[in-house]
Amino acid sequence: MTYSSIVVGSGISGLSAAIVLAKHGRKPLVLEAHNIPGGCMQMFQRRGPDGPCRFDTGVHYVGSLYPGQIMWRLFCYLGVDVPTTPLDRECFDRISLPGGDFCVPVGWDNLAVALKRECPDEAAVVDAYVAKMRRVEASLNWHTLNPEAEGAYDRELFETSLQGFLDSLGASPRLRSLICAQSSLYAVPAAQVPLAIHAAVIGSAVEGPHYVNGGGDAITKPLVARLRELGGELRLRTPVERTLVDGDKVSGVELAGGEVLRAEEVILAVHPRVAVKLLPDDAYRRVLRQRMADAEECIGAFVVYGTIDPGADLTGVTGRNHYLLRDDDPDCFYRPSMDGPADAIVNLPPPANGRQLFSAMGSARWEWFEQWQDTRTLKRDAKYTALKEKLTANIVAMIEQRIPQLRGRLHVVDASTPLTLRDYTGYPRGGIYGVAPGMNAQGRNGVRRRTRYRGLYVSGAGTGTPGILGACVTGFGVAGSILGTDALIDEVRSQTDDAARKGS
Ligand SMILES: Cc1cc2nc3c(=O)[nH]c(=O)nc-3n(C[C@H](O)[C@H](O)[C@H](O)COP(=O)(O)OP(=O)(O)OC[C@H]3O[C@@H](n4cnc5c(N)ncnc54)[C@H](O)[C@@H]3O)c2cc1C
Repeated sequence: MTYSSIVVGSGISGLSAAIVLAKHGRKPLVLEAHNIPGGCMQMFQRRGPDGPCRFDTGVHYVGSLYPGQIMWRLFCYLGVDVPTTPLDRECFDRISLPGGDFCVPVGWDNLAVALKRECPDEAAVVDAYVAKMRRVEASLNWHTLNPEAEGAYDRELFETSLQGFLDSLGASPRLRSLICAQSSLYAVPAAQVPLAIHAAVIGSAVEGPHYVNGGGDAITKPLVARLRELGGELRLRTPVERTLVDGDKVSGVELAGGEVLRAEEVILAVHPRVAVKLLPDDAYRRVLRQRMADAEECIGAFVVYGTIDPGADLTGVTGRNHYLLRDDDPDCFYRPSMDGPADAIVNLPPPANGRQLFSAMGSARWEWFEQWQDTRTLKRDAKYTALKEKLTANIVAMIEQRIPQLRGRLHVVDASTPLTLRDYTGYPRGGIYGVAPGMNAQGRNGVRRRTRYRGLYVSGAGTGTPGILGACVTGFGVAGSILGTDALIDEVRSQTDDAARKGS
């Protein structure tokens, strides 16, 4: 079979790229190794205390979703209607540190006011921080839909760490803690994260945080329907083994069973370390290939899933996420401990079928689970179960300590480990967002979307910014490499301007 475009991986990046290409007359085929589409957007079902519950893997809340904002416009351009609920404007993220709580409000101006209230002697530092964040955001072409923005090429943004920047401003330890406390949204400590990543991820959250009603399914299902409506195809249970080239051009892919599918364009929308195994050896310069093969993984995720007793008083608990950190230095998230109450990012989506679900994401070392790396999910031994139970108890202890209304009210249903994430998304060491978006993997050091071969590209969160928005932007970015970046940016803006003006 010959297709115009083959996209490997049905995460938000792959599906977005395929739909953009289909809108431009291509007939894309999306190939997915797993038996359900969506990658990190996939959901799973477990039996709760009073019936089945569906939990999210990687869509707890998404930023930039007020009408006219970038995530909203990208969904609008793709032609999908994603139902959302805004988080609490006064406190969408509650930071809980031993040194005291802090509420992160929606909007940079409101955040500046809140930070100054908390650190009254540092008004100038807060203003300089917020101004820098705004400048960085304004320089990212896809985030602003401005082809003239050249941030991607601005070395300073990728070669200055958040820590270095805060040091240069002379920020106090308390202000530093509050600014760095949401770092689990990109899963890199302050000394390693480039300003460009911090600003893009935190800016999107601060400006437009929303729940997706119905979770990842409510994004994946309409995207797949839209792909099919435009004449594209999706094949599940179809792992790709390698990409094929002919001279200086891509010619198709070979599937795990040996079947060959021909295409003029192939996009690998997968983890960069997976991509490198599928590419011809000389697709990148040797140094870059090595860097991709050795790319550092984010800290692993250990996530507890459950329900909350219907009788619990949830005043001040729902409508926001809770960042429960055991130390005033938020980098403790990257030094997980097996003992004692553990760091947890608690998410409480809007109730579904009268049930209040929760998930609590902690961090975990791959090494804790390495001894089971040759086993599969649901087929592991009692020792593994005991470790899961211990780590779950540590997270529950932290929730009960910092959110007292939930004491005795949590019903844990299951927990996932870095191995679970590896098994379901293909991330080699189960890192939260796959490749760590640190300074040694971004900017000049980042994965190039274009390869040496005409028509052969790489996309996905590991080639840009982690998260639903960041990964979606990489899908648009790679489609832009094929169709013309500036023209595509202009098209997205012009096709969504009317709807943005109407606010619907
Ligand atoms: C625990 C957790 C919580 C998160 N929470 C949030 C959140 O609240 N908000 C937010 O915005 N983001 C969140 N994220 C991040 C976000 O979900 C991801 O960054 C994003 O979905 C990644 O999309 P992607 O398209 O790059 O790749 P993925 O979603 O990783 O998709 C890649 C796909 O490629 C497939 N694949 C791999 N190899 C092959 C092959 N050889 N052949 C065929 N198919 C293959 C995989 O099976 C997978 O389906 C979270 C992630 C995790 C893990």
